[in-house]
Amino acid sequence: MRKPIIAGNWKMNKSYSEAMTFTREVNQKIPSEDVMDTVICAPAIFLKGMEERAEDTPLQMGAQTMHFENSGAFTGEISPKSLADIGISFVIIGHSERREMFNETDETVNKKMHAAFREDLTPIMCCGETLNQKEEGFTEKVVSEQVTKGFNGLSKEQAKRAIVAYEPIWAIGTGRTSSPEDANKTCGLIRQVIEQLYDNETAQSVRIQYGGSVKPENISSLMEKEHIDGALVGGASLQADSFLAIIEGAK
Ligand code: 13P
Repeated sequence: MRKPIIAGNWKMNKSYSEAMTFTREVNQKIPSEDVMDTVICAPAIFLKGMEERAEDTPLQMGAQTMHFENSGAFTGEISPKSLADIGISFVIIGHSERREMFNETDETVNKKMHAAFREDLTPIMCCGETLNQKEEGFTEKVVSEQVTKGFNGLSKEQAKRAIVAYEPIWAIGTGRTSSPEDANKTCGLIRQVIEQLYDNETAQSVRIQYGGSVKPENISSLMEKEHIDGALVGGASLQADSFLAIIEGAK
């Protein structure tokens, strides 16, 4: 039985004081880690403060990206080692916005996957097709390739701990959610790819999230599906009440 994981991806939103208020509001209402993992992936400069405020609560923090090197001449980048050092548990890797706007490739995504495990961070590796790719029937090909290249060289034990977020690009921030059936089909395909790369036990251990216009109204129908173990939530994770409603709907 895979433990559900609901993660908010705040992207470049909120002020530090708003982030702290949010953390205080949701802190007491987050279910125990035995039931589900609950994560906020906030802008990096908020993370230490939020982590301290959420100490002793089940709310966990994640970064939205990081470099694959621990140190060096990489102006403006975030070190995996520093994230681990301030108590961060998760990191989003290869979000489509980073692939599209910040030149992330399957190769850098793979290096970051290795870097995450090196520092004992749990990677949430994003994959997903564009509208064009979907309309031309390339969803399976695109997603399989992203997963295969992203997982390249990971040990079985590492692969089991990885989280994959299937985020069709046409569903991000558009209000247009994939149907639970279609989302489940692609998440099932991701599991199949992992089975081919490793084995059935590994494929059954990997948690797969759906992302793209997840809201309190559609979370339950997504979570009912066999291969969907959680959600990566953008816009609807910004307000405490809708984030909590999504957690409630995911139980
Ligand atoms: P929305 O939930 O705003 O569509 O964003 C999804 C996303 O990109 C999460 O990483």
